[in-house]
Amino acid sequence: MSELLVRAEKLDASDELAAKRAEFVLDETVYLDGNSLGALPAAVPDRVADVVRRQWGALRIRSWDESGWWTAPERIGDRIAPLVGAAAGRIVVGDSTSVNLFKALVGAVRLAGEGRDEIVVDATTFPTDGYIAESAARLTGCTLRPVTPAEVPEALSARTAAVLLNHVDYRTGRLHDLPALTAAIHASGALAVWDLCHSAGALPVGLDEHGVDLAVGCTYKYLNGGPGSPAYLYVRHDHQARFDSPLPGWNSHAEPFGMRTDYEPAAGALRGRVGTPDILSMLALEAALEVWDDVPIEAVRAKSLALTDFFLECVAEYVPPGRVESLTPAAHAERGSQVALRCDEAGPVMKRLIERGVVGDFRHPDVLRFGFTPLYVGFADVERAARVLAETLSPARG
Ligand SMILES: *Cc1c(COP(=O)(O)O)cnc(C)c1O
Repeated sequence: MSELLVRAEKLDASDELAAKRAEFVLDETVYLDGNSLGALPAAVPDRVADVVRRQWGALRIRSWDESGWWTAPERIGDRIAPLVGAAAGRIVVGDSTSVNLFKALVGAVRLAGEGRDEIVVDATTFPTDGYIAESAARLTGCTLRPVTPAEVPEALSARTAAVLLNHVDYRTGRLHDLPALTAAIHASGALAVWDLCHSAGALPVGLDEHGVDLAVGCTYKYLNGGPGSPAYLYVRHDHQARFDSPLPGWNSHAEPFGMRTDYEPAAGALRGRVGTPDILSMLALEAALEVWDDVPIEAVRAKSLALTDFFLECVAEYVPPGRVESLTPAAHAERGSQVALRCDEAGPVMKRLIERGVVGDFRHPDVLRFGFTPLYVGFADVERAARVLAETLSPARG
C-alpha cells in the first residue's frame, strides 16, 4: 500500500465529520462536484413525499397555514443564518441567485443615495453576476465598472454606490478577503454586496460580524438543497427598514391578504420576498439543511483545508511533472473548498475521469475543477481521485 493511502486511512479514522457521510445518498463514485450540485441528503425523499402526498394531497390549501408553507422563506432563512454568521431575521429564501442579485444590487444603489452613480463589479465573476450588474446599472442610471477584486480598493471613489464581489471565485477557487474588502468599501461610503455561492456551507462567512450590507447565495452547491433549490437574500439589520426592493411583489407586503392597491413593505427580511414561493423545492431544502444541525462550520473549514491540502499533495506525488498546474492559491487564507487544475485536453480528461468513477467538472477552456464537500468526501476518496487522474494522464503506465 502506498504511503499516501496509509495516511488517507489514518486521516479518515480520526475525522470527526466522517459519520456525516451516512446521512447522504452516495455510491462508490468519488463525488467531487458538490460545488456544482450537492449530493442528496437521505432525509429528503421521504420529506418530499410527505409534502406532496399529505400536505398537498390531503390538506391542500390548509397547508399554507397548517404545514407552515407561508412562513417557510423566513423560517428556512433562519436555518441558513448560522452557517453564514447571521442572526435570525436577516435572511429570506426564494427565487434564484440571479433574481436575488438583482434585488440586492438595485436595493444597494437605492440605499447608497444621491450622487453615487457607479457600480463596481468583479470582472472575473460568474457570468450571471456580470449580466445582472449590467442591467441593474442601466436601470439605476449607474455606470458599471468591472475590475478584478485586487483592483477594488483603488477603483473606489465618492461616486461608488455598490460593489458586487464573489467570496470564492467559481473558477480558480480563490477566497477573497471579505473583511478587508468590506471595510475598504465602507471607508469609501459605498455598500458591499457579496455572492456566497461558493463559500456558504464550506467556510465561515461572518456576515453580521463584518458588517456586510447585502449578500446572496444559492443553496444547491455546498448546502445540498437539490437542483434549482431556491436561493437566499441577506439584508443587514440596520438597512432593513430602508431596503427598497425593485421587485415588490405581494408576498413582501405588510398585509399580503389585505389585497390593497397601495404598496406597503413588510418589516424585516421578508421585504425581500416577491411572489408565491416554490414550496416543493423549498421544503426539500429545509429537509436537506437538517444535516447541519450538529455541525460547527469551523470544523467544516478545518476538514476542507485538510482535504484540499491532501489532494494537492497527492497530485504532486502521483501526476507526471508538468501535466497539470494548480490555479488555486496555496495559502489557506486564499483558498475556498475546491481545487482547479489547468490541464491540456481538460475536456476529454474529465470525461475519462468520470468514466472511471471520479466526478469533477470541466470549465472551458482548460480547467479541471474538483470540489471538496467536507460532509461527505473523505481522505481515501481524495487519494483515489489523484491516483486515477495520474493514470488518466499517463496511459502508457497502464
Ligand atoms: C452557482 C452560481 C450562480 C448561480 O446563479 P443561479 O441564478 O442560481 O443559476 C450565480 N453566481 C455564482 C457566483 C455562482 O457560483
